[in-house]
Amino acid sequence: MAKKTIQINFDTGWDLAPAPESTDHIKINEQYNLFIGGKWVKPKSGKYFASINPATEEKLAMVAEANDKDIDSAVKAARKAYDTVWSKMPAKERGKYIYRIARLMQEKARELAVIESLDGGKPIREARDIDIPLACAHFFYYAGWADKLDYAFPNRKPKSLGVAGQITPWNFPLLMAAWKIAPALATGNTVVLKPAETTPLTALKLAEIIQESGLPDGVVNIVTGAAESGAALVNHKDVDKIAFTGSTGVGKIIQNAIAGTDKKATLELGGKAANIIFEDAPIDQAVEGIINGIFFNQGHVCCAGSRLFIQESVYDVVLRKLKDRMQALVVGNPLDKNTDIGAINSKEQLATINKYLKIGTKEGAEIYQPECSIPKKGYWCKPTLFTNVSQSNTIVQEEIFGPVLAIQSFRTVDEVIEKANNTPYGLSAGVWTDKGSKMFNLTSQLKAGIVWGNTYNKFDPTSPFGGFKESGFGREGGLHGLKAYLKF
Ligand code: NAD
Repeated sequence: MAKKTIQINFDTGWDLAPAPESTDHIKINEQYNLFIGGKWVKPKSGKYFASINPATEEKLAMVAEANDKDIDSAVKAARKAYDTVWSKMPAKERGKYIYRIARLMQEKARELAVIESLDGGKPIREARDIDIPLACAHFFYYAGWADKLDYAFPNRKPKSLGVAGQITPWNFPLLMAAWKIAPALATGNTVVLKPAETTPLTALKLAEIIQESGLPDGVVNIVTGAAESGAALVNHKDVDKIAFTGSTGVGKIIQNAIAGTDKKATLELGGKAANIIFEDAPIDQAVEGIINGIFFNQGHVCCAGSRLFIQESVYDVVLRKLKDRMQALVVGNPLDKNTDIGAINSKEQLATINKYLKIGTKEGAEIYQPECSIPKKGYWCKPTLFTNVSQSNTIVQEEIFGPVLAIQSFRTVDEVIEKANNTPYGLSAGVWTDKGSKMFNLTSQLKAGIVWGNTYNKFDPTSPFGGFKESGFGREGGLHGLKAYLKF
């Protein structure tokens, strides 16, 4: 009989055969230049940096580092394309290009999903079922609006802004690029996009798709690099709008940099979401939602439900069920279709998470991690719960951006509203209850841009997404997302 390889799903007693996604169908170049004016251009800096697979620490490709001269070339290409082609093109024709990009992305969905998983460390299941389909959906959705702006904003005569400088983070690389590029194109703007330095590969694949779509040269330019490249884009005099998604710290730097200029901005920043379980909630469904809310994408989610509030009467049962469920989570090879928790995106992010694990314990919180093994190479963090925490604990106040959940109990509705709102952030929240009236009471009182009811982490291109307080301003998605690229 042929020998069978069995992968043990850590300590659950279940045996799962390995189900790795094939990498045969993907193509990653050894080296990527900058995508400027429809061409692949060598960086004037002459420098390249490596994009690493965080699950293996292996180099995937060398990627160009744009300096201020490269950024200037990209902005000039975008301005030329705006003045000579894109702003003059009938909106219906613009829409056709956006549809074409969406369809090409769909055709290459498998390749994009695998590259997203390799470059970022996220489980292939998520890249395949969430990131890529949603990115395509954003292009399809905004393609439809391109020639209907007068209906979207009746009697207001919307006009495009010009050149948009867009900067994205590493947690949803292609999806964030889609959130930014699709509405900008639909509204008649041209784009210079800078993806995050640790996950540039799917944006570069998108550049190839854009080239293949025949989009006029310079309408979308994709330049790679780290903070300095981003800052050069923010500070460029000929950029009309900055669309930024990333940390609150960098968001503040950007806001300072553009103060006193007439640049428009949308800032989508950090979060510290509260997930609230009432005693009348469907408990098993809620436990699944909490697991999804914090361990989805290794907790590398701005709207991750990183604070859990459990009503006192069901505290013990919820905690027990959570721990049981955590024991069954599969941590490991992101390309395996059984994997629930993949690799932490970078060595630096792992160090940040580990720092918070130490602080949590030092401040007296009780830590729980399931007994699972993690691979020796690569960057990994076991799913983690902290109990015995209070509002003043650092791990309750600060964004960790990892698979770490801080749990508190509450007795009354007023108490949990006060606790949930007691954070500098205001991006998202979740409420689990059987009572519609309670749900509506909380959704109106929680200071968060998105509140999910009896579900978590659900996204749709038609829904606006954005924060309150230090989670930023402006909205992406839906009609609000169009408005952010228009003047009236
Ligand atoms: P980051 O702020 O470190 O980097 C984001 C991007 O900004 C990267 O492309 C980076 O190169 C660039 N950048 C860094 N310094 C810059 C500067 N001085 N000027 C211009 N650009 C600069 O964030 P990150 O670590 O990549 O992403 C994680 C953060 O993003 C978390 O705080 C998370 O909550 C947030 N995020 C928010 C949303 C949202 O929609 N609100 C979505 C995803 C991620």
